[in-house]
Amino acid sequence: MNPRDDIIAAIVTPIGEGGISVVRVCGRGAVEFASQRFRGKSPLTLAASHTAHFGLFTDRNGDIIDEVVSTVFRAPHSYTAEDTVEFSCHGGMYISRRILGTLVESGARPAEPGEFTRRAFLNGRMDLSQAEAVADLISSRSERSHRVSVAQLRGKLSGKIAELREKLLNLCSLLELELDFSEEGIELTDKSNINSSLTSVIRDIAGLIDSYNQGRLYREGVRVALIGRPNVGKSSILNSLLSDDRAIVTDVPGTTRDTIQESLTIDGLLFSVIDTAGLRKSEDKVELEGMLRTKREADHADIVAFISEPDDELIQEDLQSLISLRNGASSQRACIVVVNKIDLKPDWRVTTSNGEGDFPTVYTSAKTGLGFERLKSCILELSCQGNGSSTDSSPMITNERHAQSLTKARECLLRAQEDSVEGKSNEFIAINLRLAMENLGEVVGVVTTDEVLDNIFARFCIGK
Ligand code: GDP
Repeated sequence: MNPRDDIIAAIVTPIGEGGISVVRVCGRGAVEFASQRFRGKSPLTLAASHTAHFGLFTDRNGDIIDEVVSTVFRAPHSYTAEDTVEFSCHGGMYISRRILGTLVESGARPAEPGEFTRRAFLNGRMDLSQAEAVADLISSRSERSHRVSVAQLRGKLSGKIAELREKLLNLCSLLELELDFSEEGIELTDKSNINSSLTSVIRDIAGLIDSYNQGRLYREGVRVALIGRPNVGKSSILNSLLSDDRAIVTDVPGTTRDTIQESLTIDGLLFSVIDTAGLRKSEDKVELEGMLRTKREADHADIVAFISEPDDELIQEDLQSLISLRNGASSQRACIVVVNKIDLKPDWRVTTSNGEGDFPTVYTSAKTGLGFERLKSCILELSCQGNGSSTDSSPMITNERHAQSLTKARECLLRAQEDSVEGKSNEFIAINLRLAMENLGEVVGVVTTDEVLDNIFARFCIGK
């Protein structure tokens, strides 16, 4: 038996108590196998695809475990493209585990994480980027991550990759055909045409690579670190952003010694806001460790919101700290200055003549709620910067694996373009085009290895 279509089973609903739990069994002969444990009006073996049947699920001694509805899907019209039966039982850990246990005692193998989706991919029901979208869709926590995962699942990215591969294949075929006529000195291709075709493919790939900055934020959420001296109101700002009282607010400097992370969505985009320990000179060991973590958080954040107060002297010191924090970070990140407690000096404004310290600035009062809409829209704007030409209608990549494969493809095409400009033989150009096609193929899984698949599907949950 092909090990890929042996009979596997898993509880496919979350572990816990609920109205219904579903246990799925699939593989070659799964309907006959499942029918042995089912007592209904007629055996499942006689059931047509996509039909539901009420009956009893029994253990191997014939004792009733539960009343169930069995849904039958016949190959190839199922999630995995194999024969499948789903038992919907009463939602309870004991019942669903007993049903799964009985199926395993009867010869089914417990499914590995992501094994149903892996089979769907291996059986050609979806390509690899769509399989990855299934995991993203399940874990999506915001409207934007949901939207981009649905688009990927529906084949938006796959379609774009197919289009680019086809263009390269056509170019390659022309170049290789010309090689056959090289003895006769016949030229089928015009070099300037090749270059312009390559330029357009490279531009499209670069657009996809650029979309990763945004796509990653859509998928994972945007990390915003609240940084600043103790007592400037970081915890109060976090609470105001969340509209509840998660962080401890006191007027004793240095209360937030660890970091606190909370999620919120603005305009359908997920944000993780991290309240950090205050930055100040300290001898206290715990506080020093807290500050070390603060610097780490600043380094990992997508946006640093530097909180200050309406005070001429302190703001200058704060701007210097922010500049050195930004310069010391491993990569450039968006920074914003938040002047909090503006209720104390409503007309106070900071003047930043120094170009280096010219940060977007928002004035807030966590006490009165002033400025928070502006703060949210400023954070949103910063998150959507660098979105390049990507629009809602163009495909977006959200996955580092895709970004890496596309980057390799672009490098190959740039080499091919160089070779073409230098007048090198078609053979050289075609080699790089073929490599680029392989790299593009990795995205959708035309070219893949077991190791890559193990890596991808290990991140899925059992039952998906
Ligand atoms: P953190 O140490 O930076 O997290 O600061 P906290 O959020 O704990 O606030 C320190 C003190 O400043 C508390 O007494 C707050 O009530 C007060 N505070 C925070 N935000 C404001 C504000 O906008 N206006 C005024 N007047 N007081 C504030």
